Amino acid sequence: MGRQYQECPLVPPPSQEDSPVHLTWTSRLAAGTATAALALTLAAPVSSADGTGPATTAPTADEQSDGAAPTGFGPKNVIFLIGDGMGFNQVDTASLYEHGVSYHQVDVEPGAGDVTRQPGRATQVYQHFPVGVAAATYQHGAGYDPAIEWGSFRGPLQNRPDSAATATALATGVRTYNAAIGVDPDRKPVRNLTERAQELGKASGVVTSVPFTHATPASFVAHNEHRNNYHSIAREMLWEHEINVVMGGGHPWYDGNAQRRDEPVFQYLAEAEWNALSGGETQFDLAETPEEFAALATAETTPEHVFGMPQVAATLQYDRGGPDRAADGTPVAGAEPFTAPKNTGVPRLDEMASAALNILDNASEEGLFLMVEGGAIDWASHANELNRQIEEQSSFNRTIETVVDWVERESSWAETLVVVTADHETGYLTSTDADPGWKPIQGGKGELPRTTWHTGGHTNALVPVYAKGVGATRIEQYARHEDPVRGAYLENIDIAETVFDYWGRP
Ligand SMILES: [Zn+2]
Repeated sequence: MGRQYQECPLVPPPSQEDSPVHLTWTSRLAAGTATAALALTLAAPVSSADGTGPATTAPTADEQSDGAAPTGFGPKNVIFLIGDGMGFNQVDTASLYEHGVSYHQVDVEPGAGDVTRQPGRATQVYQHFPVGVAAATYQHGAGYDPAIEWGSFRGPLQNRPDSAATATALATGVRTYNAAIGVDPDRKPVRNLTERAQELGKASGVVTSVPFTHATPASFVAHNEHRNNYHSIAREMLWEHEINVVMGGGHPWYDGNAQRRDEPVFQYLAEAEWNALSGGETQFDLAETPEEFAALATAETTPEHVFGMPQVAATLQYDRGGPDRAADGTPVAGAEPFTAPKNTGVPRLDEMASAALNILDNASEEGLFLMVEGGAIDWASHANELNRQIEEQSSFNRTIETVVDWVERESSWAETLVVVTADHETGYLTSTDADPGWKPIQGGKGELPRTTWHTGGHTNALVPVYAKGVGATRIEQYARHEDPVRGAYLENIDIAETVFDYWGRP
């Protein structure tokens, strides 16, 4: 077990609101209007009282300087966990279902004239991380303006970043156009964190619960002017990078229920690439079964390059049929999570992450970069399918717990940075009584929370950022903006920038 960050037991008083960079979710409760501050005093979450909630971290030696780029003291290992489409409310619907408590619920009048944070409690492991801020997710040419976002209920619908632009921002620190995979607005390739890790002799990998060529994993490896070019993205991921681990859906021989097809479907990679991968002609060893993933998670010797492709079409579980879906696939209103029998014969996301971490740990003494995506939170949110959104969020929650366990067992917080965030919010998920203002989502343990979706697409809402380990404080320092509801926030590009600050950007 490594060195633990000291947690500040004191909540900064309201007089510190002119230095929002030091405010966390706990402390920023005082950052709203006078009315809000009064209400929040009465409604402080339990986490601030029991000392387990977010608190400011002690700055490391390099971070006490004037903000010049640090050198030499950064994280050896960096792990990004990205919930695709995971807004604050996607986190809380799962927490309500799992634990009967929420953490991020607010009562906000239009214009954010009155902001009241509901009593809440940190129930997810990442909600106990020392850094909790928010991130703006907009694409090139757009922006985030709290006056617009909270000015009217339709504010968050006025700009819709996509997963390619946002994943490119998280992977490269460069803001770009929607659909761009690892290229800038001029369609020029930009260096990503897996490439930087490899340049430093570190091992690197990407893991997802959706197809490996989908926008998020693709943006951490490849460079392509359009996200829909799956076959060329797959070709690049297979042949043109030193990356050690790629794991995700997209198997041509299996359907969404993880059943073998009569004929293959080459949607996410071309037949030539599949033949090369399955024929052992690429740099990768292919893992397909849960047993193979489990063995990779514990073996003392593992291949340097592993391609993990579970035997399922696109997503590990999200596409499976069940009584919560009508014959045409439309969601049955009011269906409970876990109504549909789970696909068997496929690994869980946390099992894939465990395998990836062990492979990367074995592959280099210099450290690692790993991106793990809970990709189908977005798919369920697009479909406005609350029960499946909760399932996917729960799977992602368990994966984060697994990663935290790995850090504390095999590494330490003194040499590893873990960041949990989202690329953007999907579905505009709110309570049933929202519009024109925003009201807290209510629900009890094991119950379907009472919610309404307001779009089948994305929103421009801020998303949560939780960070722990060496360098986490620097992420907090980038959170220079202040949102009247979500508090301190940074630009999504600054999350990658934090790592480049330490690892350099030649
Ligand atoms: Zn989406």
